[in-house]
Amino acid sequence: MSLLSLSDFRVSYGGIKAVKGVSLTVEYGEVIALIGSNGAGKTTLLKAICGLLKFEGNLKLDNNQIKNLRCDQLVKRGLSMVPEGRGIFGRLTVSENILMGAFLRKDKITVRRDISQVYEMFPRLAERRGQVAGTLSGGEQQMLAIGRALMGRPKLLLLDEPSMGLAPIMVEKIFEVIHQISISNVTILLVEQNAKLALEFASRAYVMESGSISLQGRSSELMKDSLVKQAYLGE
Ligand code: ATP
Repeated sequence: MSLLSLSDFRVSYGGIKAVKGVSLTVEYGEVIALIGSNGAGKTTLLKAICGLLKFEGNLKLDNNQIKNLRCDQLVKRGLSMVPEGRGIFGRLTVSENILMGAFLRKDKITVRRDISQVYEMFPRLAERRGQVAGTLSGGEQQMLAIGRALMGRPKLLLLDEPSMGLAPIMVEKIFEVIHQISISNVTILLVEQNAKLALEFASRAYVMESGSISLQGRSSELMKDSLVKQAYLGE
């Protein structure tokens, strides 16, 4: 049984078909990458999985068929997303943003414990907990977005372009943290423009082109694929 499974998954913007019949599975504990060029439909796919866009076809989470559920209902079922561009609340402080990630939770004591864990994971955020989030650096905002998503206690974390716009050293730090998260029993579906980084990090990957999956397999195999090398690894 897969944690997430999509079949014949379709998303349109009016008449424009952005995702055209995608099938994809994510097993418990896996780190899966979804790569593809600009406009391939990766963000659209993630948004539809987490309830931000309507879709047609099938989506199963934990073997339950999901249809027309809102984001908050999906968060309750263990699905959290770190959106492209981070989507933090710029006028709220770091600590208020983190608390927003737990707004559906009633378990006050464990919420407090989870906040401490987020600060342990991101000491930089702890130092800046009173700072207005809009004034954080790009890397700090990415940390905050991840920390906030973790407050939903996800089984499955969707990450959209976590490396975007960050200096290499910060990318390294963010991926170190994503690795820690993955070994703490959180399954990860990672969308990345940086195919090399994504394939080195994930055990399996899907390649998306013009709204469809064109290739899939173990990352180590895909890295050897001549098409992947040429189109995505710049070799
Ligand atoms: P990128 O890596 O550049 O973010 P992507 O693979 O995430 O690309 P999407 O953002 O999902 O691609 O876009 C897929 C297609 O859907 C593109 O052709 C895009 O122009 C189109 N699209 C995205 N958002 C909208 C929208 N709100 N209305 C109409 N078309 C859209």
